[in-house]
Amino acid sequence: MIKIAEHIYFIEGNNRGSFPFANSMLIRDEQTILFDTGIGIEKLKELKDMVDVVINSHLHPDHMPGNWIFGDKRIMVSEIEFDQCHLKTLARRYVSRELEDNWIEFVKSTTGYRDFQPTDSFYDGEVLVFGEIEVIPVHLPGHTKAHFGFYIPDVDLVFGADIDLTFFGPWYGHRESSIKEFIRSIEDIIRLDPVIYLSGHRKPIFGRWEILEELERYRKVIEERERKILSLVDGSKDVTDLVAVSPIYGKKPYLKDFLDYWEEKMILHHLKELEEKDMVKRNGKWIRLKEV
Ligand SMILES: [Zn+2]
Repeated sequence: MIKIAEHIYFIEGNNRGSFPFANSMLIRDEQTILFDTGIGIEKLKELKDMVDVVINSHLHPDHMPGNWIFGDKRIMVSEIEFDQCHLKTLARRYVSRELEDNWIEFVKSTTGYRDFQPTDSFYDGEVLVFGEIEVIPVHLPGHTKAHFGFYIPDVDLVFGADIDLTFFGPWYGHRESSIKEFIRSIEDIIRLDPVIYLSGHRKPIFGRWEILEELERYRKVIEERERKILSLVDGSKDVTDLVAVSPIYGKKPYLKDFLDYWEEKMILHHLKELEEKDMVKRNGKWIRLKEV
């Protein structure tokens, strides 16, 4: 647990916070609030007695698998996902029919996930008060439709969850994901102009300039992917061929079926964007309409 500011702590997840784990933020004020429960089951058990409220950024299994440990406490989920806290419901949203059962098995075996019941919901812009510290949920869709970050105005801190500023870049591998919304969400964070940035998968970043630079680098990964995909669209490939080239993941040493499925969705989001800009069209295979 690393102290970040008065009342505010950062807890790194197992595997240095990499998937299938994620980092948490902890507020120790009049009440103790834990944001996300993907740090690892053993670490969560150590916090069990201390925590009064759990708040989830979104219902991805690397961010909420340990909610069940806090089954007798308040568990808050956004109003958008409040009625979707079942693995089967989530499998429908996140993977294809054929992959649903494998995905559920993967989630249970790697994250320690068990079912849980949320007690309260929160909404975009609500002011949550737990003592001296006020926390404002900020709807930041794109990654998923219901992805939230949390803003603490007192100390200009943003907990950006899966706007995670990793070197991999933004992840938008679901049907419900959106590149346009993701970019808008990054811009929303830039407007908040935080001086401390916490996220699900990177160590804390401090300083307005450092954070701005990282947000802009992260946003540019989307443009780089677009250019790469455009250069691959040569009239001879359909989406499956593009997935085989793997312009986004590059290599898939594990979970190949899932990663192929998600990469296909990410490529399709790019092709949709390119199609809207009249740069590609589909005629059996994908054809480039502008030179790169
Ligand atoms: Zn996520």
